[in-house]
Amino acid sequence: MYSHLLSEFTVQRMDDRCIRCQVCERQCPNEVHEYDKELDRMFTYEEKCVGCQRCVVMCPAKALFVRSHPSEYRMNASWTRDKFQNLKKQAETGGVVLTGSGNDKPYRIYWDHMVLNASQVTNPSIDPLREPMELKTFIGRKPDTLKINMDGDVPKVESELHPNITLKSPVLFSAMSYGAISYRAYKSLAMAAKEFGVMFNTGEGGLPVEMRKDYASNAIVQCASGRFGVDQDYLNSAAMIEIKIGQGAKPGIGGHLPGEKVAQHVAQTRMIPQGTDALSPAPQHDIYSIEDLSMLIYALKEATNYEKPVSVKIAAVHNVAAIASGIVRAGADVVAIDGIRGGTGAAPLATRDNVGIPLELALASVDRRLREEGIRSKCSILAAGGFRCSADVLKAIALGADAVYIGTAALVAMGCTLCQKCYTGKCAWGICTQNPYLVKRLNPEITSQRLVNLLKAWSHELKEMLGGMGINAIESIRGNREHLRGISLEEWELNVLGVKGAGE
Ligand code: SF4
Ligand code: SF4
Repeated sequence: MYSHLLSEFTVQRMDDRCIRCQVCERQCPNEVHEYDKELDRMFTYEEKCVGCQRCVVMCPAKALFVRSHPSEYRMNASWTRDKFQNLKKQAETGGVVLTGSGNDKPYRIYWDHMVLNASQVTNPSIDPLREPMELKTFIGRKPDTLKINMDGDVPKVESELHPNITLKSPVLFSAMSYGAISYRAYKSLAMAAKEFGVMFNTGEGGLPVEMRKDYASNAIVQCASGRFGVDQDYLNSAAMIEIKIGQGAKPGIGGHLPGEKVAQHVAQTRMIPQGTDALSPAPQHDIYSIEDLSMLIYALKEATNYEKPVSVKIAAVHNVAAIASGIVRAGADVVAIDGIRGGTGAAPLATRDNVGIPLELALASVDRRLREEGIRSKCSILAAGGFRCSADVLKAIALGADAVYIGTAALVAMGCTLCQKCYTGKCAWGICTQNPYLVKRLNPEITSQRLVNLLKAWSHELKEMLGGMGINAIESIRGNREHLRGISLEEWELNVLGVKGAGE
């Protein structure tokens, strides 16, 4: 069928600079560039371009530009370009429009409408270069009260202490499964988490056996609806276990890893036959109530000798606060909330862009509800879904998070340019693909260093901002909304966030 779609990108080659080296031809998995030997000329098929910018970065002569295509449909406030294009795609394929990475719709990003406080005159600020600052974070259930026996020389804690994991800084890597991402990308996350002293999350694709010895102390292993790779050894090769109920990018629906991405090692790790589609059902088929969830939480605790915290991850949806309360009462030690801007390897566009609520509102209402019910200390809250910088992280902690998960930010550090084509298996950056030719583009030694650098930079910035507020420990700002003020927000938004307007 002849396509009616307009090209998304235009590719411009400066012929006076181009040295016909064919690097762009070799780098592009979408066959946008082609060299004609007879004519000694490069040809461009821009309708195939996904805007990943790989050729632009790799061109040794800096001869390429990839820009949004200037061709436009007649301006129409209702029929925007993406509405046109998606409808035409469906008319041509008869299928669901798929996408990858996070929601790019212009819903309000509340982090950009809240500002942080700073000390002036009455409470001195702290210089983090000269004074100790503490970002160490403990994730897990805390005792309601701390009984300390002061008899003898060394004070002794007498309260029962629940298992917690320790993070050097309050940032963890989100669930990204082996199979959805390449082995090298997955290994880079594990290496970076280990080097920096934080955690990576296996997602639902299992943990390769050869990585268990070295990376168990920095792994959060997921138990999702497909139960891929879940057995006793997997559960015990982790610092924490996470039950995945939902994902911010696609609340209410399951997952589908196409057979082409289920290569031999992926299949072995997931415990499924090679080349078969890995289908994750929408619900966990043994969970239809909070009581069922409680049974799974305690089954996992039992299987790991009550030595590991158990987290439950949910998507941010309308009644998220009530659901979180039920999860804590069911025995979870951690509630992870994934907002509408959370990333994904593959999701129906309609779901990604229209289902769920912004993380900021969900986080504030969960934290408030758990406090009101007197059960906030029984769990930690992990916030996920669209963190872009250290200021977002600090604002999330002030809104009630104990720590945050980053997924897209970690991918961008590795090379991702958010082309949203992860589901095609042709990631030009070697991240979301199992194609051996593309996978080789990532060197875990280098990529993990990029991730460590990112965590290091954010930690420095967190300390700077905390110091500016006169605070020397991240613990002290947790849930402390007095350090936030809203800008250009409606009354109802300020109320949900529990934040005063700037100037108040
Ligand atoms: S990579 Fe750059 S210099 Fe090489 S052929 Fe492509 S456009 Fe020309
Ligand atoms: S991971 Fe790769 S395919 Fe996915 S958005 Fe990033 S660059 Fe594109």
